[in-house]
Amino acid sequence: RALIDHPLLEGLNDPQRAAVTHSGAPLLVVAGAGSGKTRVLTRRIAWLINERKAHPGSILAITFTNKAAAEMKERVEELVGKRARIMWVSTFHSACVRILRKEIDRVGFKSSFSIYDAADSKRLMTLVLRDLELDPKRYQPNAVLNWVSDQKNELRDAEDAAKEARNGFEEAYASAYTHYQRRLREAHALDFDDLIMTTVHLLQAFPDVRENYRRRFRHVLVDEYQDTNHAQYSLIQQLCGESFEELGAEAERVEPSELMVVGDADQSIYAFRGADIRNILDFEKDFPNATTILLEQNYRSTQTILTAANSVIGNNRGRKPKRLWTDAGAGERIVGYVSDDEHDEARFVSEEIDRLVDESSLRPADVAVFYRTNAQSRVFEEVFIRTGQPYKVVGGVRFYERKEVRDALAYLRMLVNTADEISLRRVLNTPKRGIGERAEACIAALAERDRVTFWEALTRAADAPGLATRSLKNIEAFVAMVQELQSMVEADERPDVILESVLERSGYLTELEASDDPQDGTRVENLAELVAVAREFAEDPQPGPSADPADVEAGTVAVGLGDFLERVALVADADSIPDTPDGDDSGVVTLMTLHTAKGLEFPVVFLTGLEDGVFPHQRSLGDQPELEEERRLAYVGLTRAQKRLYISRALVRSAWGAPSHNPASRFLDELPVDLVDWRRTAAEQTRWGRPDLTGGGSSRLGTPTDAGRRNFSTAAMRADAAAKAKPAREIPSLAPGDRVVHDSFGMGTVVAVDGVAEKSVASIDFGSEGVKRLLLRYAPVEKL
Ligand code: ATP
Ligand code: MG
Repeated sequence: RALIDHPLLEGLNDPQRAAVTHSGAPLLVVAGAGSGKTRVLTRRIAWLINERKAHPGSILAITFTNKAAAEMKERVEELVGKRARIMWVSTFHSACVRILRKEIDRVGFKSSFSIYDAADSKRLMTLVLRDLELDPKRYQPNAVLNWVSDQKNELRDAEDAAKEARNGFEEAYASAYTHYQRRLREAHALDFDDLIMTTVHLLQAFPDVRENYRRRFRHVLVDEYQDTNHAQYSLIQQLCGESFEELGAEAERVEPSELMVVGDADQSIYAFRGADIRNILDFEKDFPNATTILLEQNYRSTQTILTAANSVIGNNRGRKPKRLWTDAGAGERIVGYVSDDEHDEARFVSEEIDRLVDESSLRPADVAVFYRTNAQSRVFEEVFIRTGQPYKVVGGVRFYERKEVRDALAYLRMLVNTADEISLRRVLNTPKRGIGERAEACIAALAERDRVTFWEALTRAADAPGLATRSLKNIEAFVAMVQELQSMVEADERPDVILESVLERSGYLTELEASDDPQDGTRVENLAELVAVAREFAEDPQPGPSADPADVEAGTVAVGLGDFLERVALVADADSIPDTPDGDDSGVVTLMTLHTAKGLEFPVVFLTGLEDGVFPHQRSLGDQPELEEERRLAYVGLTRAQKRLYISRALVRSAWGAPSHNPASRFLDELPVDLVDWRRTAAEQTRWGRPDLTGGGSSRLGTPTDAGRRNFSTAAMRADAAAKAKPAREIPSLAPGDRVVHDSFGMGTVVAVDGVAEKSVASIDFGSEGVKRLLLRYAPVEKL
């Protein structure tokens, strides 16, 4: 009874207290979102240290991200003080790295082994496949790597994989796996999946090492247990020493560690990385003496939000129904919005944030905007940049910083300007076309010798001393391709059409599309998004802050490729400005994918893009298990909201620059109608999306390229004969300290100026609007 008053149990309900104070048998806490699982896990660590006198060094806590680990550690430190510092709170990967640094010499690696990231692994696998002379069309590095990753997540080493290969295809994969591992070993390197597999194998093979860690970690706690895969599960088994058969008599020697896992089967969203929901469903079977505690009260959300989430997840089959309730009251109704298109959706979100901030005590930092795929952030970013709403994109690289976007833009830049050697060299062998570093060096030497540009040298590569015949042929093919693309630029073809041709002709798209790596799928989506940007620009060259007022007036806003690139450069530039120079985050809205939202909570959540084919994702539509995983993702998204939830969809959304009309997400139909207040429904649309102009012919990218369409576009855009020779605007000459006024940002003070004449860029502090970097040739600024 005295426990009731214990400070570490304050603010916990009965089952939560039971979980914190439980001792002995393995403990499973299963509960829906927001029921305090993470809070319980954190308190339990503090309880173990303070009340049960556990040495902090004997605690191993596993979280899903490094950020979550840092937060948990901080929280425990607040509760028990600095001595908490030596405990291990980390992800599976970091914990394994720490173990391996100490122990890996046992299996013949140097303790200073390197860790290969995805790019390194891919480079290595490419070499391996080449050595094995496997047909690169049938055996793509990423596909083989994915397969290898699956093997490792199942703890199958190359030998096992070879034994289990059932056909020639699998044999080839297995032999690639064998060679890949050999090369890794020669390099004293491990890839990500190796970190876990190697640790498990090591613990299995060396009883003394295993015992050592079992003696050390008397308490193992795992958050987000539903997302563990088989290898991670085995790691926990090895460390906890619960009496598993294969351990035999040894299990007796060291008492099993106390294990606590917390999770929610309804939030399992990483099956594509081998996560196995059965780990949580079978916990009681695997640990027959386990104690299970259910938490049923949700402390995060209003009843409305909770009912909505429960109603959606209720459509998944074969799950244990849960009763999740809250006493937070009904709260606000969910607000729904059907937008014309994705821009309208982003505008709605932006305006609604403004309204909330004006009319309530909410701050922009209380708001999160979720979407299904990374590429969807782009439109939000653009609208937020335009409206001056600071934002941060979590867990993803900003759109214009993504590799594939930079590569595509580098192609366009060098087409416009072959002297742009950086762009040219960036794409010279991207995708790989057999122009290696040696060949590149030969060309560079030739350019030096003849005092010509790198591009000039490429066109006369036959003169380059020491260039291999094969490289020469590849260079000639590259030059021919570039010249062909350049003729499109000279013919004033639309930027989107040129971009598509670039992606096709360069083989860039083919390589990504042939890959099985889900990341490459994302890259294809991002490129589709870039084509959409170019298309919008061509059709509706919005006179943004960079346009010359004289051109806007005359209706001759330029739409050439060069103009497009300049406009992109400006957006991309604004993009790289830190959101908050002074470190105050309260004004910053958070943008993130649903996957990165796991475990987090926000007072206000916008769940966007609720369309069949977007969310649920296109590739899940015909597949029941995948669709159920998408539904769990929806459950994760809905349950992040504390007070207000917005849901939205667009009637028309651009994909590959072509408008697509997606039906409403089926998840919308799964929400109770009376909970949603539709601000705007499909029936109320002012326009039913843009008419479909695609006509009959559609390229692989789904963008119109038929002749009629092209004439239409060129005719409409040909008004720009004058625009090409755009009247040069006078560039204001500015110096730090000068006061200026900008058409949309208002008054500002010049902080710095770089570059000269046409290229001069000023950093200007616009007070509450932040510091902007502006290209003076275009920026509508005037010196005061
Ligand atoms: P998820 O499934 O999304 O990871 P969770 O079960 O881990 O959620 P927590 O994040 O631990 O839930 O808790 C959700 C919110 O409820 C947090 O703000 C937490 O501080 C609060 N909370 C948890 N338990 C209580 C309680 N007994 N009293 C008051 N607030 C609580
Ligand atoms: Mg949690």
